[in-house]
Amino acid sequence: MISVQNLTKNYGENKALDDVSFEVRQGEVLGFLGPNGAGKSTTMKIITGFLASTSGTVQVDGLDIQDDPMAVRAKIGYLPETVPLYTDMKVYEYLDFVGAVRGIAKEKRQGAIKHMADVCGLRDVISKLVSELSKGYRQRAALAQAMIHNPDILILDEPTSGLDPNQIVEIRELIKRLGREKTVILSTHILPEVAATCSRVIIINQGRIVASGRTDELLSGGGGKEVVQAKIRGSRDAVREALARHESVRDVKHLSDHDEGVSSFVIEVIGGADPQEIVFKIVVANNWMLLEMFKKQESLEDVFRRLTRNDN
Ligand code: ADP
Repeated sequence: MISVQNLTKNYGENKALDDVSFEVRQGEVLGFLGPNGAGKSTTMKIITGFLASTSGTVQVDGLDIQDDPMAVRAKIGYLPETVPLYTDMKVYEYLDFVGAVRGIAKEKRQGAIKHMADVCGLRDVISKLVSELSKGYRQRAALAQAMIHNPDILILDEPTSGLDPNQIVEIRELIKRLGREKTVILSTHILPEVAATCSRVIIINQGRIVASGRTDELLSGGGGKEVVQAKIRGSRDAVREALARHESVRDVKHLSDHDEGVSSFVIEVIGGADPQEIVFKIVVANNWMLLEMFKKQESLEDVFRRLTRNDN
């Protein structure tokens, strides 16, 4: 549905995007995740035709954004980082205005507004001034304006930024519901947002894609690291040394001390080795006691930090 190929964007000397390629399939909710300044907004502005790329192509439903910008824009609903809401209009006036700009015929606009009020939960505030709306309702109005022309694709730039936790949950639920019918790309620097709403994630850092995959796969330790946490009764230093000495152990971290000579460690082994077997054998060979052991999954947060640390 959306095909982005070799996208590069230079701002003078600064390379905001560097050879970014990805595809989005119909019906997917794709999370575009990265720290501030990674290039998320730049990518979205290029896909929506608001910004020209330095090189590379964007195709939406087989249409090239450069050759056919109006046709592409008609297929896309775009929620920019800051939405131009007209605060002195009532909500329905504002949606009517946007609908007119989007080319919806006058007689069809009322139906479109009513539909948006239902979908975005705006019925109670439809006759209020935009300036009177809470931030959560403003964001709903912003989403409604992005969708008034019933696009197949939604591109949402940081859709929950600035909202309180309750509003965040509401907007995420709304996006999830929309994702059942539409293809969605949303950008965020907030990890739980991705876990809560997206089926696939692309992690971007300094203008380059550093990881991509299904959210559940990335969440369940896509890094492929073999790590266990073990609680062992034995002399702390002796345990640590014995573990670290094993040829397949890459790293041993002492986590904490408990009562009566019991300590917890996190042990990472080299790929292919079984960390549980290694720890068990060492403990038995030394007559220590293994009180607890479990595999530690690398969280999405760990993956994100590992991939977007700029010092490596
Ligand atoms: P994100 O949305 O991930 O926070 P952006 O796409 O906004 O990142 O920015 C990517 C990079 O491009 C940053 O280094 C940013 O400073 C730079 N940048 C963005 N917009 C402009 C601009 N209009 N002029 C110059 N540099 C810009």
